[in-house]
Amino acid sequence: MRKLTIIVPCYNEEESLPLLFPAILEIVPEFEKRGVEISLLFVDDGSTDQTLKIIKEKAKKDESIHYLSFSRNFGKEAAIYAGLTHAKGDYVTLIDADLQDPPQKILEMYDVMEKENYDVVGLRRVTRKGEPVIRSFFARRFYRLINRISKVEMVSGARDCRLMKREVVDAILQMDEYNRYSKGLFSFVGFKTKWLEYENVERVAGQTKWSFWKLFVYAIEGIIAFSTVPLSLAICFGILFLFLSFLLFLIFLIQYFIFHVAFQLWFLITILILFVSGIQLFCIGISSLYLAKTYLETKKRPVYVIREKDETSIL
Ligand code: UDP
Ligand code: MG
Repeated sequence: MRKLTIIVPCYNEEESLPLLFPAILEIVPEFEKRGVEISLLFVDDGSTDQTLKIIKEKAKKDESIHYLSFSRNFGKEAAIYAGLTHAKGDYVTLIDADLQDPPQKILEMYDVMEKENYDVVGLRRVTRKGEPVIRSFFARRFYRLINRISKVEMVSGARDCRLMKREVVDAILQMDEYNRYSKGLFSFVGFKTKWLEYENVERVAGQTKWSFWKLFVYAIEGIIAFSTVPLSLAICFGILFLFLSFLLFLIFLIQYFIFHVAFQLWFLITILILFVSGIQLFCIGISSLYLAKTYLETKKRPVYVIREKDETSIL
């Protein structure tokens, strides 16, 4: 029998968990019919409520339920990484504890994966119903910006909930960088991916753990992890300042020699300041380009990811 591991990151989810268990139990027999055994891996991200106690009680009674518990709250990214590292299934999926990724969808994702031979099937919400307007607005702007400045495509509305084959998980785990932005890492590894679209579902119980500020910081994290364009901004400004100083100097010369305007020291000083700042910014920009390369090297991301290979042709 093949195995599917469902990873559930949990942070203070005592209200959602009692609703999550029955929802997952519903799909277990369906998977059994398809020859797939489900195991659940809960990652307790340093919850301060009864979350761990609830999970432990369930794990005692049911062999297919496993858990990891962090010493403190390390954040969802750390929980995802820990989950992926410990999941041993042939298939792995992530799911939120608040039922925003309905477990029934896992079944749908699995069927699509098997029928159409995909390596990854993800959920993508096409509406942001129930979300604060300002949050949706900034989320859209963020996706537009990051897709413009990063080579890795970030799909707007993509949930972390995605069913992946073993090879995909192994490829993701090759990236052991500390500052993790999973949406980017999932895209980075590539593979044949299909998106199932659905309407946003609101959290069943409890509160979102993401304040606007936390999301903002996370967005910056995403940009820094997947783009070095901000580092090249200095070089652009440097060139702009130099160009401006040359232009103004030309105007200065024309005024002085052709129109015989009186010598204006303040104008010349302004030009000089622009010129010197331009040179400085340009030099900082050049150092930044090296820094960007060093930054990418330190991440030690794989240079390529192989999807298939012909074993017999390897000498
Ligand atoms: N979560 C986590 N650590 C955190 C914050 C959240 O493990 O520091 C989990 C949380 O328990 C839930 C999932 O990540 O299962 C998604 O969190 P949430 O519903 O708060 O985010 P939203 O759906 O609002 O983006
Ligand atoms: Mg949620």
